[in-house]
Amino acid sequence: MLNLKDPSLLRQQSYINGEWCDADDASTITVTNPATGESIGTVPHMGAVETKRAIDAANAAWPAWRKTTAKERSLILRKWNDLMLENADDLALIMTAEQGKPLPEAKGEVAYAASFFEWFGEQAKRIEGDTLQSPWLDRRTVVTREPIGVCAAITPWNFPAAMITRKVGPALAAGCPIVVKPAELTPFSAIALAVLAERAGVPKGVFSVITGDSKSIGLEMTSNPIVRKVSFTGSTQVGRLLMAQSAPTIKKLSLELGGNAPFIVFDDADIDAAVEGAIASKYRNAGQTCVCANRLYVQDGVYDQFADKLVAAVAKLKVGNGQQAGVTQGPLIEEKAVVKVEQHIADALSKGARLIAGGKRHALGHSFFQPTILADVDASMLVATEETFGPLAPLFRFKTEAEVIAMANDTEFGLAAYFYSRDIGRVWRVAEALESGMVGVNTGLISNEIAPFGGVKQSGLGREGSKYGMDDYLVMKYICMGGI
Ligand code: ADP
Repeated sequence: MLNLKDPSLLRQQSYINGEWCDADDASTITVTNPATGESIGTVPHMGAVETKRAIDAANAAWPAWRKTTAKERSLILRKWNDLMLENADDLALIMTAEQGKPLPEAKGEVAYAASFFEWFGEQAKRIEGDTLQSPWLDRRTVVTREPIGVCAAITPWNFPAAMITRKVGPALAAGCPIVVKPAELTPFSAIALAVLAERAGVPKGVFSVITGDSKSIGLEMTSNPIVRKVSFTGSTQVGRLLMAQSAPTIKKLSLELGGNAPFIVFDDADIDAAVEGAIASKYRNAGQTCVCANRLYVQDGVYDQFADKLVAAVAKLKVGNGQQAGVTQGPLIEEKAVVKVEQHIADALSKGARLIAGGKRHALGHSFFQPTILADVDASMLVATEETFGPLAPLFRFKTEAEVIAMANDTEFGLAAYFYSRDIGRVWRVAEALESGMVGVNTGLISNEIAPFGGVKQSGLGREGSKYGMDDYLVMKYICMGGI
């Protein structure tokens, strides 16, 4: 049992049209703690019928919601933000239990997640139109922006709260209702958000959370003509499928998909800072973020020094149950994730890579894995082309700037990229040459609510967070004012 200050935050039902409900056939999914293998509880196993009900409820709630003032919506979002922060300890405990990340990271995510409600609540008041020059003297050209309508969101398990608020914040701020399907592995964080939504005064039907069968819920969300927009964060493979399913009804899509982030250390870098950035970018959330450094390119002259220092820094990481004090790396989300890391290591070793740290399952069992570093990695290995999504840092060696840019861009992905250099000319050249939606220069941490998050190439469409994040939930209307 979780020792929550407010046990009512851990509910085992879906939240549809302001009501707590079970699946029509009463079936459930069991949610387990990856650190212990123990059951935390169950959530309803819903499908298309319940999803349609949630979409209909959102559609019924839309006219009243879009007619609220920006300030009214802003105050509700503000209240929701405050409630998240007031309940941060409990929300973090729930998150660590279902997801595995260390408690301080979970608390950090709760604050980050809440910040999207605060930010978009403020931005609600800044949805602005435009007046353009008219070519006709008796008419005026006015541009307004309106809420797109009923939205649906499908979110992943690696950030069980923030990936929801980053979509729900702008949707609600814009005047749209939204139905959310959280990942089956981490539904309790989403449900806790619904408990707080109710307390914050979010009207019935404006925000629903539906748990259950991802395929049938996803199919209903993408094919139902009432839904005008689908926002998805997850794998490129599922993103592609949702895009195809959305094509017949021409839905607007936001897709935040996989990455394969390069992390480049040039000869002129501050090596200690680069090591610190690599630890933050690579091992945070046990390497399970779409912006985690996936390929570390280190220039010849500093390769050995960087490798030695990274090995020393990795030795300080503490693997364990995220609920225990001092732990910096929790378990991976599930067995499948461990198998992928093992495959990447075995493939690299068979092609000549050298293991310089970790490499094995952790003695704690379950899905715990040792923080790992591979040296002498090259482009022929799986780690060069696939996202590992685990605590494995592969070190590639390079000689020139041109060579490393070509290597970094040699991927169908383009989400985040990082590099360390103190040469101002190089900083601009490389930042401009990298094919990615986001670039961290001399830092391994880039996400915040004010910056636009998103990718290019097959990493996705649209931007979340920032003043641009509202655009995905708005449509433009041109009004030609005649008779003047
Ligand atoms: P990950 O590798 O992060 O698990 P997925 O893309 O498999 O990435 O999962 C992200 C989200 O997409 C989860 O909520 C999952 O349930 C959902 N999902 C997976 N398959 C489908 C599908 N066929 N249709 C709709 N949603 C899906």
